[in-house]
Amino acid sequence: MTRPENWAQNHHFIAGAIYRPVSTDALRHLVARAPHIHAIGSRHSFNGVADSPGVLVDLADMPADIVVDAAGRTVTAGAAVSYGALAAHLEALGWALHNMASLPQISLVGAVATGTHGSGDRLGTLSSAVAALEMVTAGGDLVTVRRGDRGFDGMVVGLGAFGIVTRVTLDIEPSYRMRQDAYEGLSWQAVLEDFDAVMGAGTSVSLFTMWGGPVVDRARVKTRLGADVAPAAFAGGTAGAYPPDLASADHLRFSTPFGVAGPWSERLVHMRMEFHQTRHLQSEYLVPRSAATAAMVLLRNLGGRIDPQLRITEIRSMAADRLWLSPAFGADTVGLHFSWEAFDVPAVLGLCAEIEDLLRPLGGRPHWGKVVFGEAAELAALYPRMADFRALAMQFDPAGKFRNAFLDRHVFG
Ligand SMILES: Cc1cc2nc3c(=O)[nH]c(=O)nc-3n(C[C@H](O)[C@H](O)[C@H](O)COP(=O)(O)OP(=O)(O)OC[C@H]3O[C@@H](n4cnc5c(N)ncnc54)[C@H](O)[C@@H]3O)c2cc1C
Repeated sequence: MTRPENWAQNHHFIAGAIYRPVSTDALRHLVARAPHIHAIGSRHSFNGVADSPGVLVDLADMPADIVVDAAGRTVTAGAAVSYGALAAHLEALGWALHNMASLPQISLVGAVATGTHGSGDRLGTLSSAVAALEMVTAGGDLVTVRRGDRGFDGMVVGLGAFGIVTRVTLDIEPSYRMRQDAYEGLSWQAVLEDFDAVMGAGTSVSLFTMWGGPVVDRARVKTRLGADVAPAAFAGGTAGAYPPDLASADHLRFSTPFGVAGPWSERLVHMRMEFHQTRHLQSEYLVPRSAATAAMVLLRNLGGRIDPQLRITEIRSMAADRLWLSPAFGADTVGLHFSWEAFDVPAVLGLCAEIEDLLRPLGGRPHWGKVVFGEAAELAALYPRMADFRALAMQFDPAGKFRNAFLDRHVFG
């Protein structure tokens, strides 16, 4: 029997079945009866975080039912709705999210459950915008937890360990317009010496680079109209003729537009909804901002070994938050992301393990949705509230109904 796979085809789900309930009542019934069950989103994680030794539940057939609360400045939507669909809906109504990831196809709950982020010195992770979660708990009960409730900060980046989330409420704000500009050939020296100025050059700055060359190859700078202005040039880089991370004309067609103002929903993501990237592997390490330049110096030293396996690295920033397993818990944070070509998988995985070990002493947290090696004890040292997370998850799920091999290895130990 062919096992279902994740997007990158590097994880084959061991779960015996995938159920697609169409109503909350059907889901409650399913959860109450299953000895082991776990929720799956759009399967974009590069590991088994969404797997189960029992069965899986996919909420894609549940209604999205997007409801805006204008007075409360929130939107509530079905957990499986894609960020792209949610953003388009909000923009049509004159509302906006504070940030988005590079890819619009990921599900709302899958993204927030793993601490997914975009870039922006003043912008928190996507998870930081969560105001409430409605979920089915282990006994089949439907509960809602809200920001400020006891344990809420532990449950947002929840890795599926607390229950099956059915609806998510996010903070929203009035719609705004943005533009994005491309730059190329930034000086590594300038980036390392004045990293704050580089990352502060716009509302959302992403650097794209290989590690061994003399320059940071390219940058995307996204500026919010009325708040920031795109610089003419920065860090020795000049305005680029081409969008930064796009290798081919085909990719170019599917990028969100450059050099012209437009709605936030078509600028914060890098890719358009209809674009599906070619398969590859990803790993990412989230380091405290104070350690970012030291981390980049270490990686530059490995450039000769990293670059032959690398498609591109993306460097992004995010504001600190209070969510226990968030990559940005407690400190402004920099994401050092690697899109790996998957030609030589053992070599790529060896490099991922080596980089994770190298950056751990600097506080480098591996992204929960990407390639992860750290054992629970090692990761607990990076997350001051890990013990609280475990205790809360066991309170919600004493029999381990939502546990899986990923959680056992990397969280519970
Ligand atoms: C091409 C590509 C680009 C990416 N870009 C970015 C990026 O820009 N920034 C970034 O930070 N990450 C990025 N990622 C990683 C991605 O955002 C995360 O892996 C995210 O978790 C994917 O969401 P998903 O819907 O596919 O969730 P899945 O991978 O299916 O699941 C992830 C987690 O969510 C949980 N979950 C799903 N549904 C529910 C539910 N109903 N209730 C409770 N828990 C649930 C699962 O149990 C699991 O723990 C990218 C990945 C790919 C493949």
